[in-house]
Amino acid sequence: MTAAMEMPRVQECAASSCSYNHTNNCHAFAITIGSSDHAHCHTFVESPVRGGLDQLIAQVGACSRSDCTHNSDLECHAPGITVGGGTDVADCMTYRGR
Ligand code: SF4
Repeated sequence: MTAAMEMPRVQECAASSCSYNHTNNCHAFAITIGSSDHAHCHTFVESPVRGGLDQLIAQVGACSRSDCTHNSDLECHAPGITVGGGTDVADCMTYRGR
């Protein structure tokens, strides 16, 4: 049996209009990053429903930005990431092109 791997945490998220954002922390279980032209947070959602669980801080579940220095096999290996406004209101600010 393999040990469960720790996924990178979302250390801070400035997208305060997102339903998963409570006081600049993301409370989704895991988020997905990536799109063809920038490191977009695909978990971002504006909804009247409050999202996530207060006891959780989100992890990066998957990232399709294979051109990022932190990306290997479409997984993020950064120690942690921050999310905020970039091309969109919610993008990975830890993205670094190779
Ligand atoms: S740091 Fe790079 S690999 Fe990690 S989530 Fe952001 S864009 Fe993806």
